[in-house]
Amino acid sequence: MPEETLSQLRATVRDVPDFPKPGIIFKDITPILKDGALFRASIEVFLQQCRGKKIDKIVGIDARGFLFGSAVAYALGIGFVPLRKKGRLPYRTESARYSLEYGEAEMELHIDAIERREKIVLIDDLLATGGTSASAATLIKKVGGDLIEAIFLIELEFLHGRKKLEPTPVTSFLKY
Ligand code: AMP
Repeated sequence: MPEETLSQLRATVRDVPDFPKPGIIFKDITPILKDGALFRASIEVFLQQCRGKKIDKIVGIDARGFLFGSAVAYALGIGFVPLRKKGRLPYRTESARYSLEYGEAEMELHIDAIERREKIVLIDDLLATGGTSASAATLIKKVGGDLIEAIFLIELEFLHGRKKLEPTPVTSFLKY
């Protein structure tokens, strides 16, 4: 991927201070999504990292992970699995609780979403503390999947989220 494309993507991410609460700088990716060429470029960035690997399914994290993950799965011609916040999936689920900055949250996966030993790539827009992705990794393993890589458009490196995902390889393209 040309450096220029990554610079363009980086310049298009919008910083929104104090959202959703004071002190947080929210990295808003909607300016990328609304631009056809940049949205396509962002998917290409993910695809370059995935091509040539034997991947059975993409798992995308609720909700922005669906936007990138489903487009990547479509382009690769493989299945997409949504990992959702508690209470949204209609069938039987496995669930994992994890800590947020304040309080706790819970993510769920359908018990039949992944076959045993299927090779899974996890996709989300942004890696922050890693709590969400670590619970995703736990759930993927719980239902029998083999998580081979986690890929994020953006990584807030100062939060050291990739440590929580060890030993899963982590890739990100726009680092802050
Ligand atoms: P974490 O569990 O701390 O790694 O948080 C990751 C999840 O929260 C991802 O699904 C992100 O979309 C979202 N998130 C966390 N921090 C930010 C931020 N500063 N800007 C945008 N999204 C964020």
